[in-house]
Amino acid sequence: MSGKAFTPGAVTVHHDPHELGRVTAALRQTGRTVTLVPTMGALHVGHRELIRRARRVPNSVTVVSVFVNPLQFGAGEDLERYPRDLQADLDMCSEEGVELVFAPNVEAMYGTNPQVTVHPGELGDELEGASRPGHFAGVLTVVAKLFGIVGPHIAFFGEKDYQQLVLVRKMSAELNLGVKVAGIPIIRDADGLALSSRNAYLSAEQRSAAVVLSAALAAGTYAGVRGAQAVCAAADEVLRAEPQLHVDYLELRDPELAAAPEQGEARLLVAGWMGSTRLLDNALVVLGDASASDSTANE
Ligand code: AMP
Repeated sequence: MSGKAFTPGAVTVHHDPHELGRVTAALRQTGRTVTLVPTMGALHVGHRELIRRARRVPNSVTVVSVFVNPLQFGAGEDLERYPRDLQADLDMCSEEGVELVFAPNVEAMYGTNPQVTVHPGELGDELEGASRPGHFAGVLTVVAKLFGIVGPHIAFFGEKDYQQLVLVRKMSAELNLGVKVAGIPIIRDADGLALSSRNAYLSAEQRSAAVVLSAALAAGTYAGVRGAQAVCAAADEVLRAEPQLHVDYLELRDPELAAAPEQGEARLLVAGWMGSTRLLDNALVVLGDASASDSTANE
């Protein structure tokens, strides 16, 4: 018997931005730290980890937003078929002790004729942005709105969407939004596949083949000691062995997603199509002889 008794917390769902804004403003005034976990719903264990990190902040109240943001989907993408299950999301939030869920509809968020969007700059056209024009303008616009509505002190984002995390951080800093952006490591299935709401689209055969992304990143990571070229070659070799994956990009960058350094920390990012499902993943790679710098540090 599973027998795991839990007492669901009292989660309050707000659909109206102004109403939620009034609640969080009052909470801020009483000295509570407001934390925000923005999601598109269909919550899985990756989201749960973000929520847990947010809940751990002392004297805090956590807002989880659930909103499938049409602005970040291009024409022909999966906006209509994107999985939605608000009740299951509320159950998870309640299990995790979340007090506030913000689940607006599209009209409540955007009104009838929105004009203003956030321009992500050059990085918005690279990597994910090269294949998904307008995607990051859509992401940053909704995140800016969520920051404006909720007024969080800290917002939690996953490294799973690494470019998104970098861009949201830049936005908060460059537009002086005053929100601290916390990045949370990727949560993976037992075989290494990064958890994603989109994994639900995969057939059983595609699901087992999808492990190739994390396997390629692991191969790249191990090659770090031999330098940038070796990293890309090792990862590329693994990707090529899986004909079901159509690779969109495999790139090594610095942690801010500028050109990769010769030595030290870098990010290896991969994206591809498994049938009609887009999958992405990334990993930290240390270039050069990490043990040399470790031993210096220990001297
Ligand atoms: P989404 O609902 O896919 O927009 O994701 C909401 C947030 O959860 C984003 O900040 C994602 O980066 C994060 N997230 C999604 N999957 C994972 C995962 N496997 N590990 C860590 N964070 C994740």
